[in-house]
Amino acid sequence: MPKNIYESAAYEASSLDGCYWPGTCEMPATPALAGEAQVDAAVIGAGFTGLSAALHLARAGMSVAVLDRHGPGWGASGRNGGFACIGGSKLDRAAMIRAHGRGARAAWCHAERAAIDTVARLQAELDIDLDRHSEGEVMLAHSPRAMAALRAEAEATGAEYGVRAEILPPGALAERGMRAEGVHGGMHLPLGFALNPRKYAAGLTRGAQAAGAAVHGGSPVTRIRREGAGYRLETPGGSLRAGRLLLATNGYASDDLPGWMRARYLPVQSSVMVTRVLDAAELAAQGWTSDLMAYDSRHLLHYFRLLPGGRFLFGMRGGIRWTPEAHEAVRRRMRADFAAMFPAWAEVETPFFWSGLANLTRNLVPYIGPLGDWPGAVAAFGYHGNGVAMASWSGQQAAELLLGRRPVLPEFVARPPARFELGPLRRLALGGAYLWYGLQDRR
Ligand SMILES: Cc1cc2nc3c(=O)[nH]c(=O)nc-3n(C[C@H](O)[C@H](O)[C@H](O)COP(=O)(O)OP(=O)(O)OC[C@H]3O[C@@H](n4cnc5c(N)ncnc54)[C@H](O)[C@@H]3O)c2cc1C
Repeated sequence: MPKNIYESAAYEASSLDGCYWPGTCEMPATPALAGEAQVDAAVIGAGFTGLSAALHLARAGMSVAVLDRHGPGWGASGRNGGFACIGGSKLDRAAMIRAHGRGARAAWCHAERAAIDTVARLQAELDIDLDRHSEGEVMLAHSPRAMAALRAEAEATGAEYGVRAEILPPGALAERGMRAEGVHGGMHLPLGFALNPRKYAAGLTRGAQAAGAAVHGGSPVTRIRREGAGYRLETPGGSLRAGRLLLATNGYASDDLPGWMRARYLPVQSSVMVTRVLDAAELAAQGWTSDLMAYDSRHLLHYFRLLPGGRFLFGMRGGIRWTPEAHEAVRRRMRADFAAMFPAWAEVETPFFWSGLANLTRNLVPYIGPLGDWPGAVAAFGYHGNGVAMASWSGQQAAELLLGRRPVLPEFVARPPARFELGPLRRLALGGAYLWYGLQDRR
């Protein structure tokens, strides 16, 4: 049994039940690993990190095999909100500068932009139909205090990314079709776009396969053994020998695969619901007709967007346990928050509701670097709930490391994350953190 830190149901195929995205696109066939195989590089995990790495490794001429417990995009990558945006760290600007200096902050902002560009480039190169929309994103202030902070920070925020951040008072939001209750204005940052994450995962899988990578679903890696100068990975149906290794399991990681991972990551649940199709009159009644993706300024934030075709997607943090009762409690809380922000839709059916695991690190920044002291082995994880773009970019950087090149990474991203306190019980600390942030959000 792998040492996962949530209830086993979180890791079973059925944990994707209720998700809207699987009905929107077919995944390419990815047969399970069968028998013995040998490659230059093995990748564990077929999310955006692993698929992007596999694509770039294969293009560089390596033979590559990707192994996933279930299949491409089964983890967070195929079930997220589809915001390809800046983010990936939980350190805000001031804290990052205090901890790491202005140079590292500038390198990080550069990486965030490069991450969005990576998604746009891959979409173009692989010709993926992503149901793309939204020119940038909007942050909505949930309190007058938050609005004052947005105003004070807008110029500096824009300058850091080389764009103009536009402040939108409540009247301007309503004029642009973004009317929600309890909102005190917002800021539009013309960076990033929204996409269908499953179509993106499918497109990356096809791209990696076309470049020569083998992608195996239904292939949980149960054991990694060092063998000579390389590694042997065991799955129920096969055995893969590889000279190099990338661990790309993010929130679905195990504490013992390998032992170096123990307590270096903290999976957190995020939950999403999607409404039935709303007609033009219903959209007008609420005053939300914009195709811009948006989130609010709470620590425990809500994220939402009107999907092409008229459904509305609404997401927020999930629970601490992975049980039907805990999910039902989250679903009820989401419905209440949704009704409070979008009262005209309070009774609208939401036939889709699901949860998944994102991932935090103790250092509050992602990690891309050596897997302990194993030669030729790399791990990339910890995007703090913002991995659509950041995981795509990190996979490419991990590939660079495996190719023996030197990617230009913000210095702190290459520093192995410290271990969380409380070991296998570390997720219980989230209860206290959520309580604290919930209180902060009332200010
Ligand atoms: C509900 C939700 C909403 C989100 N919304 C957004 C958003 O709108 N924008 C954004 O930027 N980010 C969002 N995120 C975060 C984002 O989805 C992740 O950061 C990103 O997808 C991580 O990609 P990954 O490839 O590193 O990991 P994952 O996509 O989680 O993939 C890890 C894979 O590893 C596999 N695996 C694990 N162990 C093994 C093993 N032993 N053997 C074989 N395979 C294994 C799993 O099956 C899984 O497929 C959201 C996350 C969630 C859960």
